Formats: sequence, structure tokens, C-alpha cells
Amino acid sequence: MKYFAVIGVGRFGYSVAKTLSEMGCQVLVIDSSEDKLRQLEGIVTQVVQADATDEKALRAAGIKDVDAAIVAIGQNMEASILVSLILKELGVPYIVSKAINQLHAKVLKRIGCDRVVLPEEEMGARVARSLVSPNVLDELELSEKVGIYELRVPDAIAGKTLGELDFRKKFGLNVIAIREEEGNLNTVPTAETKLSKGSTIFVIGDEENIERFDKLVKKMEKGK
Ligand code: ATP
Repeated sequence: MKYFAVIGVGRFGYSVAKTLSEMGCQVLVIDSSEDKLRQLEGIVTQVVQADATDEKALRAAGIKDVDAAIVAIGQNMEASILVSLILKELGVPYIVSKAINQLHAKVLKRIGCDRVVLPEEEMGARVARSLVSPNVLDELELSEKVGIYELRVPDAIAGKTLGELDFRKKFGLNVIAIREEEGNLNTVPTAETKLSKGSTIFVIGDEENIERFDKLVKKMEKGK
């Protein structure tokens, strides 16, 4: 079983801590606010009221035993950086820190955080992209340009096989899985696999090819 520490339980930290617990992980929560801790009592394994910039307090809470720590202190940038640095120096194997802006993110990366998240910015960009591209239901960014996208099956291609569509060549996207309407997941799609209405396709590719997919599908719909 994995053991995590969540430091700072505002809305973001609370959600991380609660979800980890629900997934059966052991979770140590540290926050300076008694009120914030109260809402997680009985939900997580242990809550500790402490100023996380105090190295001794972190040691006493048993921070050295965790597999990973999530620093979810947002507004107090100085505290967020200091805590991340202390965790790094204490040898915590994996550190995820929340940043509130790009400069904050840059500093956190420099001091060696393994992952830096900007929740508002990332979610905002995701929502915007899904609004512009009518076929994208969800996405997982792998690099600045490349991602894994979940696409709905537009009417224009429903009922056709991947082979008939010449999918990879036509759209420049690799289909890695197909989720049928009933929920079954086909993770080895072949040229004979048919795309049915109501199912979704998971593709890996770059943003430009997603735009191409949208345009070509629109054209096919008009030509029907
Ligand atoms: P969110 O957007 O997730 O609600 P936020 O960006 O508003 O969070 P803050 O309010 O700055 O984040 O901090 C989140 C939590 O971190 C708060 O519960 C706060 O008590 C706690 N916190 C801030 N500084 C420290 C510190 N030095 N030690 C321990 N906890 C801290």
C-alpha cells in the first residue's frame, strides 16, 4: 500500500487527500489550520497540525516514511517553495507541488520537484480546447504538442472500420483503444474494428492532427 503526505489542504489539497484515501492509500495530512484538518478527520490516516516550513515538525510527523508528498500550499509562495525544498533535502522520493503562476512553477522545478501542477491554468486550457474541438471529450497532455485524446465517433465515420477509413493515414492519429457504448474497452483495435455510434476512440497524436480530424470529418459530413 502506498503512503502519501498532503501538505496544505485548501480545495486542491483536500480533493487530493480525500481521493487518495478513497483509493485505499494511507494519507498523512499536515496543515497549520485546525479547522481545515477537522474536515479530514476520520477520512485520512493521520492529521497533524503544524507549520510545514518547520523541518523538525515535518520529521516528527514521520514525513521520511512517505512514498510521495503533495505540496498544496497555494497563495503563500514562500512557504510552498520552502516546504518543497525541505522535503527534497529530507529525501522524500517523489514530490508534487502546486504552483499559482509560471514563475512559481519554474522555481519549484529548479529546486527539484518531480512534478509541478498549475490546476487552474491546466483545467482552463483543457476546457477551452474541448470547446473549440467538438469531438474531443478528454485529453492527457504528453508534451507541449502531443497528447492522448478521447474522441467521440462523429456520424460521418460511424459504421466504418479503421481499415476502410484508412484512419492512421487520413487523420495522422494512432488509435490505441476504443470504448464501446456499453463500456467494454478494446485495447487491440485492428483494421477490421468497426467504429460504432456512441462509442469513443482513444488516439495518440499532435494537436494539429486533431484539428485536421475535425476539419475532415466536417467535410465528410457535408459531402454525405
Ligand atoms: P486552494 O485553491 O486549493 O483552495 P489556496 O491556493 O487558497 O488553495 P492556500 O489557502 O494558500 O491555498 O493554502 C492551502 C492550505 O495550506 C490552507 O489550508 C493553509 O492553512 C495551508 N498552509 C499554508 N501555509 C502553510 C504552512 N506553512 N504550513 C502548513 N499549512 C499551510
